[in-house]
Amino acid sequence: TAMYEAKRAGRDCCMVFDPAMHERVVRQLEIENDLRRALRAGELFVVYQPIVALPGGRATGVEALVRWRHPSRGVVTPGEFIAVAEEVGLIDQIGEFVLRESCARFADWRARLGPRAPGQLNVNLSRAQLRSPGLVEQVRATLAEHELAPRLLQLEVTETLAAQDEAVQATLRALKQLGVRLALDDFGTGYSSLACLHLLPVDTVKIDRSFIAHAESVEYHRVLIEATIRVAQSLDMVTVAEGIETAGQAALMTRLRCDHGQGWLYGRPVEAAELERRITEAAAA
Ligand code: C2E
Ligand code: MG
Ligand code: MG
Ligand code: MG
Repeated sequence: TAMYEAKRAGRDCCMVFDPAMHERVVRQLEIENDLRRALRAGELFVVYQPIVALPGGRATGVEALVRWRHPSRGVVTPGEFIAVAEEVGLIDQIGEFVLRESCARFADWRARLGPRAPGQLNVNLSRAQLRSPGLVEQVRATLAEHELAPRLLQLEVTETLAAQDEAVQATLRALKQLGVRLALDDFGTGYSSLACLHLLPVDTVKIDRSFIAHAESVEYHRVLIEATIRVAQSLDMVTVAEGIETAGQAALMTRLRCDHGQGWLYGRPVEAAELERRITEAAAA
């Protein structure tokens, strides 16, 4: 937002010149122009990471995650461009691309792989998308185009976003009305609390990786995770532990009766063809 304010201030011609801020604005403009070009050039692509049942590790679904194949910088992760895209108004286009691309792929898997295809597709939504009046229709039309039942799609929103104003709440309710599922992403990192969980129209709670990372060593984190799981389950919500990297973490999450896990232990995010190769290989084994 500092960058954004500087840009705004620049437009209003009332900014004291600050070289560091100038540098940031120039950098942001570079990324912005680069991203516009990338969208036209088709440099964005989607990778898929499995979500598995605990215990056992049977895949239940996949999360779609965007990547940018940059001509000189190599593969760039969303942490480096989603925030800028959000600030300069490109996130709608990126979000639409990810939704269309991943739904097309998911429908294709279901048609060709049958019961071996991922059972559910998770797609992340940004703040700007949740505020866009066309989102609900866009989701409806995309599902219809590929003849996908809405319950096969789960849209992920962060807890801070989900707990926001009435407009966002209305959009979430409209999405639920459509029949898609909703997941609360990165749970525990925002400001909403367990006491408010029942107010949000979500089906799934994804416990943030930062808690999982310390679950074995920090008693307080383990207690928080366990409380989250108990509260979520009492509300008939599914729980997912994000960022499981070790067998020890998996065992602990299983012991705490977390429903699902996601993380490098089960598989890193990979391109569609690679995921398909792994599915086919596993079926043959
Ligand atoms: P997220 O939705 O919480 O996604 C999970 C992130 O954790 C992904 O990072 C994934 O690669 C990473 N991850 C998964 N398992 C592990 C693990 O075991 N260890 C570690 N260290 N990391 C793990 P990624 O792909 O870089 O995405 C970062 C964030 O960017 C996402 O967090 C999400 O908030 C956002 N994002 C990604 N794709 C999209 C998109 O298409 N649209 C929007 N709006 N945001 C997206
Ligand atoms: Mg997510
Ligand atoms: Mg997450
Ligand atoms: Mg997270």
